[in-house]
Parts: sequence; structure tokens; C-alpha cells
Amino acid sequence: MKVTIAQTAGFCMGVSRAVNMALATANQKKKKPVYTYGPLIHNPQALQFLNEKGISILKNIPKAGTGTVIIRAHGVPPSDKQTIEKAGFNLIDATCPRVVRVQTIIAKHRKLGYTSIIFGDEEHPEVKGLIGCAGNKALVINRLSELDNLPIFKKAVIVAQTTQDLYQFEEAVKISKNRFPHYKIFNTICDSTRKRQEEIKKLAGSVDAAIVIGSYNSGNTCRLAEIASQTGKPSFHIETEADIDFSIIARFKHVGVTAGASTPDRVIKSVCKAIEKKL
Ligand code: SF4
Repeated sequence: MKVTIAQTAGFCMGVSRAVNMALATANQKKKKPVYTYGPLIHNPQALQFLNEKGISILKNIPKAGTGTVIIRAHGVPPSDKQTIEKAGFNLIDATCPRVVRVQTIIAKHRKLGYTSIIFGDEEHPEVKGLIGCAGNKALVINRLSELDNLPIFKKAVIVAQTTQDLYQFEEAVKISKNRFPHYKIFNTICDSTRKRQEEIKKLAGSVDAAIVIGSYNSGNTCRLAEIASQTGKPSFHIETEADIDFSIIARFKHVGVTAGASTPDRVIKSVCKAIEKKL
């Protein structure tokens, strides 16, 4: 059995940065207790590691509190930052610079009277943060067919959640340019997402089967799994080696492996080791 690991598998710049910021904060006594507002990243193994380092998750912002609250890579609505500081916490903003770019585009255009059309998942924390930057002038779509029912605005800007499916968004841009030529369009899918999606598309095409490692609730991992399966090759989305059905994997001679932006290296390594050991 040959295993090829994608070069782009694992932590992206924004996730590494947020994890490093959280760990550095946890090492400073005067900043304790240390919380992340919501899970720092979508990966149970990484969250367990952070918990062992004394970093816990704040689900809701209390009226008053002490210590430090870290804003995760996905970002939050601006009003949440104000509430955290008002409650008395120190705030450390680990929002990924690529997400900040989208927030800035939306906030700038909001002031100029534009409606923001966000191509993304309404329930995703990044999108909730983007909606917050747009005030009440935002609309979220996540299917191409939704473009058909879109009201026509005088001024609108189209952006994407940074981890959206590149190929779907390219299609959305084509349709929008045709239908709404007066809208401004920004392709805000981040570089890391683009490279990762392009690589799994190519890799899955050249192997017998693809394995995508990452949390089942990680949007960017689920999209990698979708792109892999769209190539027509057997593809498997797993969280850890415990999810591998070795009797199925054993049928393939060459397997390609990639992982979502929030999957730790050690999880990727242990999956590959388990495959190489058993097959
Ligand atoms: S996927 Fe892209 S935007 Fe999201 S945290 Fe990583 S680098 Fe930043």
C-alpha cells in the first residue's frame, strides 16, 4: 500500500497563529484564567490539548469576569468584542488576517450603503461574524440556485466565507456577473483553502482512494471530502485512525491523504502510521 500525503494537509496559517497565541497567553500567569470564546478551532483532539494547557471554552459571555478571552480564528461580530471587554476581560483577538480582510470589505461597503451578499454557511461562526460587520444589511446564500431568488439591490457586494468551495464560488461569480453586472465581487476564499482544494482534486484523481482527516463539524474538512468524492474515486472522511475500516482500505494500492485546516499534525501522522502498519 502506497500512501501519499497532500503537502497542504493540516493546520493553516490562521489556525497555527490562533493556537500559538492561545498557548503563549496560557503561559503568562497574569493573564489567567484563559478562555477562548467558543471552541478555538473545530477539532476535538486539538481542543483536548488546549484544555490540558489550561485553556477553557467560554460558551456565553457572562455579565462580569476576570482573565483573558481569546477570539478565535473565525472572528466574531464586533458587538461581541465590546461585550467581552465591558464584562471586564482582557481581549486577545486571534481572528485570522484573511477573515479580517473580509470583515473590512463588508464594513467599508456597509458605510457606503452596500448590501453584503455572503456565499457561505449561515450557521458558521465566521459567517455570523461577517453578518455582524454588515449590520442588518447582509444576505447569506450557500447554493447556486439561491441566486435565482435573490432580490436586486441598487448597491451590493458579493464575498465568500474564506473556506467555501472554490469551484462553487467560481460558478456563482460567473452567474452573478451576468445577472448583476453592477455588483462588486470579491473572491475572498483564502489561499490556504484554494491550494488545499486544488491539491485534493488533483491527488484524488491520481490515486485509488482518498482519505480526508478532520472533524465531522469542520466545514473546510467536509468540503475537502466533497471535492474528493466528486472526482468519482472512493473517498473517506475520518476523524482519527479509529474510524478507518481497514478491510475496505486494504482493497486499494495507492491512497491519497489530506486533512482540514484544523487537523493537528500528530493526528495525520498517526492515521498514516496506522495504515502503513496494518496494510
Ligand atoms: S482557512 Fe484561511 S481564513 Fe481560515 S483560518 Fe485558515 S488561513 Fe485563515
